Amino acid sequence: VISCRAAVAWAPGKPLSVEEVEVAPPKAGEVRIKLVATGICRTDEHLLQGCFPNAEFPVIPGHEGAGTVESIGEGVTSMKPGDKVILLCLPQCGECSFCKNPESNFCQKSHISEPQNLLPDKTSRFSCKGKQIHHFLWISTFAEYTVVPEYTVAKIDAAAPLDKVCLLGCGFSTGYGAAINTAKVKPGSTCAIFGLGGVGLSVVMGCKAAGASRIIAVDINKDKFAKAKELGATDCINPRDFKKPIQEVLTEMTGHGVDYSFEAIGLADTMIAALASCNMSTGVCVMVGELDSGSEISIDPTLLLTGRTWKGTVVGGSWKSREGIPKLVSSYLEKKFNSDLLITHTLPFAKVNEGFELLRAGK
Ligand code: NAD
Ligand code: ZN
Repeated sequence: VISCRAAVAWAPGKPLSVEEVEVAPPKAGEVRIKLVATGICRTDEHLLQGCFPNAEFPVIPGHEGAGTVESIGEGVTSMKPGDKVILLCLPQCGECSFCKNPESNFCQKSHISEPQNLLPDKTSRFSCKGKQIHHFLWISTFAEYTVVPEYTVAKIDAAAPLDKVCLLGCGFSTGYGAAINTAKVKPGSTCAIFGLGGVGLSVVMGCKAAGASRIIAVDINKDKFAKAKELGATDCINPRDFKKPIQEVLTEMTGHGVDYSFEAIGLADTMIAALASCNMSTGVCVMVGELDSGSEISIDPTLLLTGRTWKGTVVGGSWKSREGIPKLVSSYLEKKFNSDLLITHTLPFAKVNEGFELLRAGK
């Protein structure tokens, strides 16, 4: 058993508390990871506010982490202590029908199919002050050590800087993959991205890499526009600068609406606006943001009747996580994209609450 620090969420709506926790050794088929760095994604904020579906408290959040293998359980063959890894918030068990389908990156072992609050044997490897602490998406990266199933770990190139490539565990892969894999953006096309956080800015990068000729970035926080332009946005607009609905503004700007629209915020209104902003016949709208658990959307069905396509994505479309993330790391090392530009602040672990304050402040 290892004693180390972890950020524990004891109850919804409370700040994280950095505690001494015990991390049990890995059982058969599991791996214990020493974490080096973790990103903060809005999905962690959904969890802290009690809006993430089927989560259980107390819990150690975090799902965008990189580190090294500390020890392996019985039967683990795909990695050894010392290997550099990225933890996967979407597993790749390799056995389910989705894993066997080359078109899909989903896995039946994901949290959406069956909650990942405990490891597959239905026990936790974390305890604090004598209490069992839940895992989050199996990987709980807000800890100095974490224990996870082997199939939620991607072994990556030993040259990768862990404090940079941790973003490939969720935010970057989700946004970049939404453009490349889910929407399959074509060269010369027009795109609109709603929300310019880590995920939306990664969509901008994906649209640019796919050769889109016009990339319209939409946010209510104009401080995001300079970075969006640096990453490839051709136009930046603030819905609050217009009297008419943003879908009408986008339709006028483009003639018949954009070819591809993306929602990377997580609000019902902007999901509908994104859908209505794409071409009524051939447009494709990708839902990337996550709505609070239990919420629903109602739309005018004519929006779809005329031919639009509305789809969702989990962590980057058709990239299977264990195979795809190491390839993305190689592309990063070959400088095919620069996800470092998404890093705004680097904080020591003890300041994790400050990181959330920065996220909430749109910084
Ligand atoms: P973030 O908070 O960093 O960014 C959200 C952005 O949306 C901010 O810039 C904010 O100013 C902007 N915004 C808020 N309200 C707006 C409005 N009404 N109109 C226009 N812009 C508005 O969040 P993030 O970490 O980039 O995550 C974005 C969303 O993606 C979240 O809902 C998150 O849960 C979800 N997510 C989904 C997946 C997936 O696999 N599908 C993976 C990661 C994150
Ligand atoms: Zn995330």
